[in-house]
This record gives sequence, structure tokens and C-alpha cells, in this order.
Amino acid sequence: MNLKERVLGEVAENFKCVEEISELNTLKVLEAMRRLKISDAHFKTSTGYAYGDIGREKLDELFAEIFCAESALVRTQFVSGTHALATALFGILRPNDELVSLTGEPYDTLQTVIGYSHAAKGSLKEFGITYRELPLINGKVDLAAIKHFITPKTKLAMIQRSRGYSMREPLTIADIEKICAEVKAINPDCVTFVDNCYGEFVETREPVEVGADIVAGSLIKNIGGGLAPTGGYIVGRKDLVELASYRLTAPGMGNELGASLGTPRLLYQGLFTAPHVTAQALKGAIFASGIFSKLGYKTRPLPNDIRGDIIQAIELCSAEKLIAFCRAIQSFSPVDSFAVPEAWDMPGYEDKVIMAAGTFVQGASIELSADAPLREPYAVYLQGGLTFEHAMIGILGAAQELEAL
Ligand SMILES: *Cc1c(COP(=O)(O)O)cnc(C)c1O
Repeated sequence: MNLKERVLGEVAENFKCVEEISELNTLKVLEAMRRLKISDAHFKTSTGYAYGDIGREKLDELFAEIFCAESALVRTQFVSGTHALATALFGILRPNDELVSLTGEPYDTLQTVIGYSHAAKGSLKEFGITYRELPLINGKVDLAAIKHFITPKTKLAMIQRSRGYSMREPLTIADIEKICAEVKAINPDCVTFVDNCYGEFVETREPVEVGADIVAGSLIKNIGGGLAPTGGYIVGRKDLVELASYRLTAPGMGNELGASLGTPRLLYQGLFTAPHVTAQALKGAIFASGIFSKLGYKTRPLPNDIRGDIIQAIELCSAEKLIAFCRAIQSFSPVDSFAVPEAWDMPGYEDKVIMAAGTFVQGASIELSADAPLREPYAVYLQGGLTFEHAMIGILGAAQELEAL
């Protein structure tokens, strides 16, 4: 039996679990759309200030419903996930407030927002917000240390659900529940904030349901279903989402302005397909883990591990292999298959980054994509795939390319 058939046989049970979760999440989204009576009228374009845009207002309601949150802010005016996350942080934090990370080093772009290694222009550090972080132990959150780490002074605790560009483990919803409980036991006023990128619809519950006060993410990852053309979202406690809205627009304006331009239907339709598309991406990740572990590479998660996000990390151990892998994924893309990815100084990142994203929506990592900072252990982070069939073709293509090196 060839490698593909062997791996497919071994992961059949995992695929079944993924399909069950997709079914439950599809039901959740459908029920919310029925309850809120979504209609063609909500897909209309608005212009200018867009006061009273019912499509924008309804979409906020719909996200709030699906995330079990009091309030939501879903906008194409967020230029990326980082922008949504930064908007929440800048909206809530004030000079002399203390921000902490409970999941070790934050994602690369968030480090720049914080003013992590140097006070980047416009960073939180420049505004007098202090920062501390709780290091991970063996890639896991140091739960027992939280009670000594959070103080009565800590204003906001940041929790990153996904592994991002690191070999740490992603958090499950059960992990997030434990972390939030530890924080609230010490300081009930400390805001629990979850970076939800790549985590949406991987499980049947979302962070607000287990104690997160505010959550933010990108629309060109899981929750946009591959159809959202751009944007981000923030969901959570009403007072906190309101503070973020004043940072996105202006004090006094908040969520009441913002034109939908040409996009509202795609945001609704993308949300509707998101549970299924997330499942396709998860199957691709499980398949990749199976193939590359059989070829002798260290993969995280392993094919049978519980997953907290859609990212598959594969340690390729050399820059040469890393670059070859990304080039192969690019060449098996429906868009820009002829382009040859190069490592470059991406805005917001400290190391050079190489990205394969032959995607319909530029840089959308819910579509089959691979990226990596050029640093030890030369791990590539593979994610997405609008269809499992495409993910499989790309992964087998990359495997063949590496074997030929
Ligand atoms: C993708 C991602 C972000 C935001 O990245 P953008 O490219 O700005 O959308 C933040 N945190 C994590 C963990 C991510 O994976």
C-alpha cells in the first residue's frame, strides 16, 4: 500500500471526530442565523458614515450569538488579526496599567504591538503600559504559577490559543477554562483576553463560554470560511467591546459607523461555511502530520494528538528544506503557482519570514499556505486548505520535493 493510503487508513478515526465537530458547529451557526432571521436585506452595501447599516449591526449580533458573548465588533475596517487584537489592547489599557502574557512569548506581531524587545514606535510601551510574561514549561502554561504571577494590579492577562510560529502546544478550550479560573480566583477584575486566531470552530465551544472576557481574531483565518475578503473581529463583554470600538473609530462614534462597501454577503456566507472549511483544514493538518512523521520528521501535533488549532508544525531542520517545502506548496496553489517565495523582512516580524500563499484572498491562511520564520529549528507551519483534496495534493507534492533534495 502506498504512503497516502496507509496514512488515510490510520487517521480515519480522527477524521470522524473532526466531522462530528463540524456538524455540531454547522448546527450552531445555522441555528443562530435562523433565530436572528438573516435575510437578503442584510447583504446590502452601505456607503459613507453608514449610520443604521442593518447588515453591519446584524453581523455583530450574529457573532455575539455564536460566541456566546454580550457584544461583538466585526469589521472589514480591521486590516488584519493583529489590528483587531491591538485595537482591543489599546482600547482597554491605560497608562501605568500592567499587561501580562500567560502563554509565554506572544505571537511575533503582538511583540511589536507590546514593544517587547524595544519600544517600537506607537507600541503600548510608549504609552506607559508595563508588560510581564509567564514562561511556558515544556511548551505548556504554568498553571500552578499563575496565582503568584497575577497581582491585584494586573489589568489584563493575554492568552494565546494557537501555537503561532512556535513549537509550543496550542491551548484547548479546557486549558483556557483552567487558566481563566486561576486568574479570576486571584484578581476578579483582571481582564482575560484570548488571541483566538486559528482556533475558531476547532472545538464546539469558544473562549467566552469558559471565562474569557474578550476575544479577538482574523476574518481571513477560520471564521471567514475562506470567503471573507479581509477583516477582523472582537467579541466579549459589552463594556470592553465598546472600549475597543472607540479605538477602532473614535471616542463617541464606536460601533455606529463603518461602511460595508461590497462585502457583507461574503462575511455571512463565509461564517456559514467556516465550520466545514475549518474541518477541511484540520484534515489536511492531520494528513500532513501522518505523512511527514512517516518520512522521519518531527511533527507537532502528532496525527493522533488532540488539536487546539489548525496549524501543523513540521521541523525540517534546515533552511534549504524549509524553503523547498514552501516553494512546493506555492507551486501546488490555484493562484500564483508560478511564483517562487523568498524569505523577506515582513512588517511586524523580527526574523525573515518565508510564506507560501497562492491564495484567492491575499495571505489568507485558511487557504492552503505554509510559512515560517527563518530560524532554528526550521519548522514550517502549514495550515488551511479550502478543500481537503487540495491540501492532500499540496502536501504530497511537498513531500516528493523534499525526498528529491
Ligand atoms: C495570525 C495570528 C495573529 C494575527 O495575524 P495577522 O496576520 O495580523 O492576522 C495573531 N496571533 C496569532 C497566534 C496568529 O496565528
